[in-house]
Amino acid sequence: MDKNFDNIPYGQHHIDKNDIDSVIKVLNSNFITQGPQVPLFEKIISRYCGSKYAVAVNSSTSALHLACISLGLKENDWLWTSPISFVASANCGLLCGAKIDFVDIDPNTFNLCPSALEKKLILAEKNGKLPKVLIPVHLCGQSCDMKSIYKLSKKYGFKIIEDASHAIGGKYLNQPIGCCSYSDITVFSFHPVKIITTGEGGMALTNKKKYADKMRLLRTHGITREPKLMKCKSPGQWFYQQIDLGYNYRMTDIQAALGISQFKRLDSIVSKRNTLAKRYDKLLSKLPLKLPYRNKNILSSFHLYVIRLIDTQKHKFVFDSLRKSGIGVNLHYIPIYRHPYYNNAENLIKQYPESESYYASAITIPLFINMSRVEQDYIVKEIEKYL
Ligand SMILES: *Cc1c(COP(=O)(O)O)cnc(C)c1O
Repeated sequence: MDKNFDNIPYGQHHIDKNDIDSVIKVLNSNFITQGPQVPLFEKIISRYCGSKYAVAVNSSTSALHLACISLGLKENDWLWTSPISFVASANCGLLCGAKIDFVDIDPNTFNLCPSALEKKLILAEKNGKLPKVLIPVHLCGQSCDMKSIYKLSKKYGFKIIEDASHAIGGKYLNQPIGCCSYSDITVFSFHPVKIITTGEGGMALTNKKKYADKMRLLRTHGITREPKLMKCKSPGQWFYQQIDLGYNYRMTDIQAALGISQFKRLDSIVSKRNTLAKRYDKLLSKLPLKLPYRNKNILSSFHLYVIRLIDTQKHKFVFDSLRKSGIGVNLHYIPIYRHPYYNNAENLIKQYPESESYYASAITIPLFINMSRVEQDYIVKEIEKYL
């Protein structure tokens, strides 16, 4: 192993002096939680994305959970999502008592495939098992084909939550991801591996007041201090009422301040990630690999750069060898239905040929904004060597 390349991570958060100063300022203020930073962060993000409302929470998982509840997802309803995602995209439905089913991916974009979705919907309509909620996931930061998905949602009557945990700063048809033109709710993650971070954190964006109100209420125990919402006249200023059953999913002001500071670099981070991705495209173009799909109507935030080996026989060998070379490759993701929690993986594997073929060939290679050209060249050289 080359000593200079001791463990290049697949992703790495980026904290600068302004981030640190912003956090310290909040620590020295009167509010480290439930203060002014959270609503300010929400305003900044919703303005940037062009959504009417934004609700900050303590993770994207919480945002997905609150989004599902707000859309009325209940016991025995169906939630459909992509198998190639983090488990949270499905867990939010399970937490509501709903049943989970998956839609296979498109072999080029690795996102939920609209034509597989349509086939599945036709069948589900016959069997009376149409989904109440669909969660398309913008894998690697590249938007799904939202126009086609939206059209199907109107025909078959399901709601859409965009899992944009990877995709803040990206665009679809010249609109920012998060504008919710083709969905009911969009969620972002601010986990440190994602585009911008608050340590842990997430946000749900929507254009519908009733969903925003519900998510706001449920992120803090279902408690309200709004006289309008109370079931009786408020007897005094101490008064609050629990009018629903909620959680403590609040984001702190410390986190929001970090988010506001990080947000200032969002566009430059996305542009830098795209520059690095383009450089990979060029350097890897002659190798027997399938490189990330490009669509001129989509600006990917390039949260991840995923290569697929043409020769799947070499997948494990190349993966292990790159790890040995100190390169923090990863696999995003193990198809969700393969986890033991789902019990009947054998049965499910046959239903998702594209997801299986992805799982047998995909490798996430490092991409983070402080990455040097030398590191990138080394990674390419090692990939070439093992192929
Ligand atoms: C990271 C991630 C989540 C969960 O985000 P948290 O903020 O860690 O809860 C959900 N979905 C996808 C696709 C993710 O990558």
